[in-house]
Amino acid sequence: MSTQHSGSCLCGAVRFEVAGDFERFYLCHCSHCRKDTGSAHAANLFSSTATLRWLWGQDQVRVFDLPNTRHRHCFCCRCGSALPDMQMNGTLLKVPAGSLDTDFAIRPDAHIFVASKANWDEALERVPTVAWLPT
Ligand SMILES: [Zn+2]
Ligand SMILES: [Zn+2]
Repeated sequence: MSTQHSGSCLCGAVRFEVAGDFERFYLCHCSHCRKDTGSAHAANLFSSTATLRWLWGQDQVRVFDLPNTRHRHCFCCRCGSALPDMQMNGTLLKVPAGSLDTDFAIRPDAHIFVASKANWDEALERVPTVAWLPT
């Protein structure tokens, strides 16, 4: 029996299921992923065997291909949330880790493209942690 994962976008217009296991989990600090996510890095799961099924809202899904690169961003046209996408001519499923509503066992394999990380992205594990919104 294959592992089942389910996910959705922020506004709830799009829901999907992924059946199968993830092989890689990368935190990508490249400049494209930083722009794309508005954050220090993207967090993407990859699988060459898992299958993606849109449960609803597939008509809300848009894809942006950054010209002359392999960077491809799939998102909900209503709320902008990152969504899964078939990459590499449909051979590799990319699932943004934050789009999943179910827990998964795999831990990140690596921080990648750290040569182009943001200048403030340094020793973040030493930044104070606050459980909720600071007062
Ligand atoms: Zn949405
Ligand atoms: Zn990247």
